[in-house]
Amino acid sequence: MTSEFTPASRLWADLSGPALISATNERSIAVVPIGAIEHHGPHLPLRTDALVAETVASAAVERVAAAGIDAWLLPTLSYGKSDEHYWAPGTLWMEGTTLLDQLIEIGRSIAMTPVKTIAFVNGHGGNVMLLGWANRELRRQFGLRTFSMSSGIGLPGDGVDGRPDEQGQGIHAGFAETSMVMHIAPHLVAPEMPPRNVPEKIAKLKHIGFNRKPVMFGWTSDDFGPTGVIGDATGANAEHGKKLFEASVNFVGEALTEIDGFEFA
Ligand SMILES: [Zn+2]
Repeated sequence: MTSEFTPASRLWADLSGPALISATNERSIAVVPIGAIEHHGPHLPLRTDALVAETVASAAVERVAAAGIDAWLLPTLSYGKSDEHYWAPGTLWMEGTTLLDQLIEIGRSIAMTPVKTIAFVNGHGGNVMLLGWANRELRRQFGLRTFSMSSGIGLPGDGVDGRPDEQGQGIHAGFAETSMVMHIAPHLVAPEMPPRNVPEKIAKLKHIGFNRKPVMFGWTSDDFGPTGVIGDATGANAEHGKKLFEASVNFVGEALTEIDGFEFA
C-alpha cells in the first residue's frame, strides 16, 4: 500500500529524513530562527532574543505556508554571540568564530537535502555581522541562496503618545523589547521595571552611536550602567508589544514571500 506523505506541520525536525526529502524541493525555504541566551536586565528572561525570533518566525512560516510558499521552520539556534553581556551571570554565549562555524555547518547539512534556500530570522543584534559573513560563505561553498533578517520591528520609544523618549538608544531590554515579551510571554516578565537607562551623552553625538549611526564603537552592556539595560522599559506594555509583534510577523512574512520569488538576474 502506498500513500502520499502529507506533513502535519511545517516543523523540519518533526519529519523523518525520508519524509523531509519527499516533502521538500528546490523551491523550499529553510527558516532558521537564531537568538541569544543573554542578560536582559532584571525584568526579562535570558532567552528573550531566542523567544522573540522563534515566535515571530513560527507565525510567519505558518502564514506564508498557508499562502502556498513551501517554508519550513528549523529548530532555533538559541545560543548566540553575546560577548557584550559576558559580565552578567546567566548569559550563555559563543565566540564569533564558533557561531560562524555552526551557521556554516547547518547550511552544509541543509545543502544535502533538496532545499536550496536558507532564511535566518535573527533576534539578537550581536549576531548580525556573523550572519552577513555566513550568508556569503554558504553561497560560495554550497551554492545556497541565503538571506538574513531581523525578527523584530523594535523602534525605540520616541516620546510621543505616552511612549518613553529613548533618544534612539532603546536597543536592549528597553521599551520595544520589553513590550514584545509582555505580549508573547507575560508570565516571564517581572512586575517591577528597572530604572530608565538611556546613554544621554552618546545620544547627542552626530556620528558615534548604535545601529544606523556611521561610527561604530566597541562596548559591553555594563559600560552604560549596572543593570545592563540600554533604553527605558518603564512605559512598556503588552498592547504596544502586540502591535510590534504583528508588524514583525508581517515583515518576516513579506520578506519570505520576496525570498520565494527572488532571482539574482
Ligand atoms: Zn534582546
